[in-house]
Amino acid sequence: PIQSPTGDSAVIGALYVKSDIEQKYTEISNTALIFFTASMIAGLISIVVALLVARSITKPIKEMQKQAVRIAQGDYSEKVEVHGHDELSQLAETFNKLSDRIEDAQDTMEAERNRLDSVLTHMTDGVIATDRRGKVITINEMALSLLDVTSESAIGQSILTLLELDEEYTLRKLLETPEEILINRSKSEADEDRMTLRSDFAMIRRESGFISGLVVVLHDVTEQEKTAEERRHFVSNVSHELRTPLTSVRSYLEALEEGAWQDKKIAPDFIRVTLGETDRMIRMINDLLNLSRMDSGAQQMDLELVNFNELVDYILDRFDMMVTSQEKKYRIIREFTERDLWVEIDTDKIMQVIDNIMNNAIKYSPDGGKIEVHLMETHNNIVLGISDEGLGIPKKDLEKVFERFYRVDKARARKQGGTGLGLAISKEVMKAHQGQIWVESVEGKGSTFYISLPYEPYEEDIWE
Ligand code: ADP
Repeated sequence: PIQSPTGDSAVIGALYVKSDIEQKYTEISNTALIFFTASMIAGLISIVVALLVARSITKPIKEMQKQAVRIAQGDYSEKVEVHGHDELSQLAETFNKLSDRIEDAQDTMEAERNRLDSVLTHMTDGVIATDRRGKVITINEMALSLLDVTSESAIGQSILTLLELDEEYTLRKLLETPEEILINRSKSEADEDRMTLRSDFAMIRRESGFISGLVVVLHDVTEQEKTAEERRHFVSNVSHELRTPLTSVRSYLEALEEGAWQDKKIAPDFIRVTLGETDRMIRMINDLLNLSRMDSGAQQMDLELVNFNELVDYILDRFDMMVTSQEKKYRIIREFTERDLWVEIDTDKIMQVIDNIMNNAIKYSPDGGKIEVHLMETHNNIVLGISDEGLGIPKKDLEKVFERFYRVDKARARKQGGTGLGLAISKEVMKAHQGQIWVESVEGKGSTFYISLPYEPYEEDIWE
């Protein structure tokens, strides 16, 4: 409406406007479409960005989780990748450092264990460790060989059963025993296989005082024990051997003192026996001194190059000469190699050995017996064999006749004036010459004693 400007609000006319708004609608709808599309794109971009951001956070965490699994399995070869300087990167870096530290610690521990293993393996003592119930958890090579068991059978076994102590000891008693324990074991019935082991026990204690196990150190003292036993045996033998002739000398002297000296018939006999026994004692003491010198290595070897055939001939000639003056007759038969055998020996000592074997051959043979002496050469030894037709030596005594004071028939040997040391001395002499002495015998038929000496055949033409 158009109103009059005078103010009486009278309408004086009307204005009619007409317009097409279709276009406006189109514009509005276009704008809405643009808006919608832009929103969609923005939404998509946001999702992509969100995904990227999430990935950048979870990837290092995932990597660290994988690395943790690898470390748990003992694989330290890979590292977590570090990008940037944010907190996660710092965490990854710390993680890598941690992994390095664990690897170093593991290597040090491994090296330490290897060192311990090699010390245990190369120890000359046997070492066994147990848990607190006394079950074996570690055993070294030496202990396995000393006890003659396998590692599989030993591990997990009770230490008392393993050492065959279960009858005498309980675990508690074992720990309360302050000294070492000597264990005697034998691999078989044979006496040589007997073994003495010294075992020292110690507890493994933690700092808290809790006992977590036991360590046993085994030491093979078979040789020491054997030597100590031999020494005891030897002292008792010497005392016995000297007491017997002394007692008999004393009883003869007593009889003489009580008046037998006036009896012209028996007095000379008594005095002869007394002198004989005294001589035997002197011989025995000389033999003992000889042996003791050889044992201590104080005996000097006076080596010279000798024609062995001539030496044996010389000794046998002497025995041939003696036969006429002796009660017991014998015949000596010689069978020597044709080649002269030159050896480096201590002549006096080897003569003593041959004398001793010859004397025994005569002593333990019947009257008129034949003694065969063979001198042979093998590839790198010379062997002298002396066979008699005497009473022979039982099989069980064959090795023992070389022991000090051992006699097959004590009474008979003593009556013959033997000291029981001749063959023991011979054995030592042969040992000092890197040679050997042994015997073969058939009881009732005879014996053959052999000695052998190392020998290098010389080329004859080097002397020409
Ligand atoms: P002995 O002084 O008693 O002869 P030996 O050491 O020379 O001491 O000999 C030890 C033992 O070996 C003798 O007691 C004897 O029993 C035995 N024996 C040594 N030689 C012979 C032999 N030819 N025949 C038989 N037995 C022997």
